[in-house]
Amino acid sequence: MSDIIQLLPDHVANQIAAGEVVQRPASVVKELLENALDAGSESIQLIVKEAGKILIQVIDDGKGMSVTDARLSFERHATSKIKSAEDLFAINTKGFRGEALASIAAVSHVEMKTKQTQDEVGTYIKIEGSEITTQDVCVTPKGTSISVKNLFYNIPARRNFLKSDAVEMRHIIDEFQRVALAHPSVAFDLHHNGSSLFSLPSSNYRQRIVNILGTKTNERLVPVEEETDIVKISGFVGKPEFAKRTRGEQFFFVNNRYIKSSYLHHSIVSAFEGLLRDKSHPSYFLYLDVDPKTIDINIHPTKTEIKFEDEHTLYAMLKSVVKHSLGQFSVAPVLDFDR
Ligand code: ADP
Ligand code: MG
Repeated sequence: MSDIIQLLPDHVANQIAAGEVVQRPASVVKELLENALDAGSESIQLIVKEAGKILIQVIDDGKGMSVTDARLSFERHATSKIKSAEDLFAINTKGFRGEALASIAAVSHVEMKTKQTQDEVGTYIKIEGSEITTQDVCVTPKGTSISVKNLFYNIPARRNFLKSDAVEMRHIIDEFQRVALAHPSVAFDLHHNGSSLFSLPSSNYRQRIVNILGTKTNERLVPVEEETDIVKISGFVGKPEFAKRTRGEQFFFVNNRYIKSSYLHHSIVSAFEGLLRDKSHPSYFLYLDVDPKTIDINIHPTKTEIKFEDEHTLYAMLKSVVKHSLGQFSVAPVLDFDR
């Protein structure tokens, strides 16, 4: 009898993992921005060409990497953010899976420049086909710059599956805005094909929302604030009279990570009961702070869904605090003009 099982070579394993982590240019944007935040950056620039199909570059002023770490960062399961299984229950960083850079490097051409504060010179690394093809010293400011070129060059099916530049750019802007809304004290820039789309200075939560959505938004925001043993809730809901027909201004952040939750969304909608015109959607920007031990982020590779220990209590609290805030700002029911 002959044995037929083999361990897959690393670059094949990485390419398989990339299928989950890197679905489109916006996925790369999310991972690179999150790495820049985890590095303690104060200012982060995102530069995109042709909706990320040609170039996605993130330049940060964070702590940078040593030569050895710069090389290791592209290995799968290589991370500086957790050390043991227990750490999974106390996650304070965006990353922890050690998969993003390995996955990205498996499906694109990557160049990195990085330098730590105390070092005289930085490290330049170029990766093609999951292999480091060039390594050199370089002159570069403190921090890290990663350029991802020719995404999916080796996966024609994925490349062909990409949507128009307008659609892919919409996804990139969505990811950019989610990250920027979650971290108002960090300055962010977004350039596309040489023109500036966003230039967001360091500020507070309200001002960041206004800088992204326009000055008119300011007067439409009703503050929401509540603190209990299990959660601190803060942020804003939009006044009901400005609720839009289209969705898109609904944001939950848990421990400064954007998450999707149709269950919690429902609790906000029910708090607006009787206040909204038919088929309009309330806008909200709600920040929940919970003990990391009470949530599980590790249920999906992109980490946009999480499990809460006590979802029902959160639902009830959100509903009641939003109702209360709307009441305090004496928001009156509107007539339904459409009937
Ligand atoms: P994870 O973020 O889950 O740890 P990644 O593959 O995204 O995994 O990154 C691997 C490691 O590379 C990180 O743990 C971090 O130590 C380092 N790294 C990645 N990006 C940066 C950056 N912009 N600045 C400093 N270190 C970085
Ligand atoms: Mg990461």
